[in-house]
Amino acid sequence: MINRPNEYLTGSLKLIEAEGKQLFKRFGVPIPVGYLAKSSEEVIPPTRPMVVKAQVRSGGRGKAGGIRFASTAEQARKTVSDVLSMTIAGEAVKEVLVEERLNILREFYLSISMDRSVGLPMILAVAQGGMEVEEQEGKTATWHVHPFVGLQPHVGLELGTFFVLNSDQSAQIQSILSALWRLFWEMDCELVEINPLALTVDGRLVAADAKVTLDDDALFRHPEAITSFPERTPLELEADRIGLTFVQLDGDIGVIANGAGLTMATLDNLAIRGGRGGVFLDLGGTDDEKVVEAALALLSRSNMRAVLVNIFGGITRCDTVAEGIIRTRAKLTLDVPLVVRIKGVNEEKAAEMLAAEGVQALHDLDEACQAVIGGLRRSGR
Ligand code: GDP
Ligand code: MN
Repeated sequence: MINRPNEYLTGSLKLIEAEGKQLFKRFGVPIPVGYLAKSSEEVIPPTRPMVVKAQVRSGGRGKAGGIRFASTAEQARKTVSDVLSMTIAGEAVKEVLVEERLNILREFYLSISMDRSVGLPMILAVAQGGMEVEEQEGKTATWHVHPFVGLQPHVGLELGTFFVLNSDQSAQIQSILSALWRLFWEMDCELVEINPLALTVDGRLVAADAKVTLDDDALFRHPEAITSFPERTPLELEADRIGLTFVQLDGDIGVIANGAGLTMATLDNLAIRGGRGGVFLDLGGTDDEKVVEAALALLSRSNMRAVLVNIFGGITRCDTVAEGIIRTRAKLTLDVPLVVRIKGVNEEKAAEMLAAEGVQALHDLDEACQAVIGGLRRSGR
């Protein structure tokens, strides 16, 4: 089962470090040399000290013991298998990043995010980055970037001064900042963050960590990001292609509703009664029978133990939706309890049509949620 952090529902795609570093590389932010491993057998005998890093979506891996060092082949294999057996903030570690261990002299923090109070992207720098960055109050600098003007060269220069860098390092930070800005802007990011941005003993500036959050609503502009970042399940990718919002969660009740707000309210209503949503499927404003069919077809393949369809018809005609449900059900052998809450234009007709097919149809959401949870308990699975 997929255990997706809830913030996904707020419309952002949080990349793991390795995915973020892929983007860093593409846009020209220097990263350490390294590779991904899913088992200790994939460890390449190191020729220099390495760092092994748990690939999970939660931050604070360092403090949780998910960042470890190894020098010999034996150590590296042992460390990789140790980290792969960890669970960090509820997330099992399935992959590790094995990288050259940087010889770090100083650690900086550098990010770009949206400052909603002024409606502009904002660069945030902290001269002492690293794991204690939250405690560095007062030692920060910020710059806003007007998107019509773009990143101005003086910002990079000022950043070099703020970090107290020499001229060679300052040239590096200017190049990193402009690469980071292009990444933020061109990929429609909500956040790009380097913490720590390491200054190595031999004078290189390297992104030791990467945190990138993409705006979910802009993903249609980046089809390559949708397929290359495996956070999305095969069913979610399929749904994307037919224009449905489909999110797999960790419960067992599939929820189809029209409109994201209604879908979330339905998940909440189930949760209050002890039910757990397993799929979030938003039909949007459609009453297209083919779309309803496609939605149910996706759901029928997602191993749900019960299905709740919640339609609040405004523009959507309830009888059209009912027709789609009936036709698909006949084709799909959906052999789990199905409850339909249907309200709006032609609701009586829709309820009659469904009842005639033996599908429980209700007008009240509370009753419908109770019914689907009851059905689940009775089916005893
Ligand atoms: P986070 O705790 O999840 O943010 O993971 P990071 O990748 O930021 O690593 C946490 C800390 O581990 C960093 O602040 C560094 O102090 C340390 N660290 C990570 N990579 C290296 C490395 O290559 N060399 C050294 N010396 N320290 C590292
Ligand atoms: Mn970090």
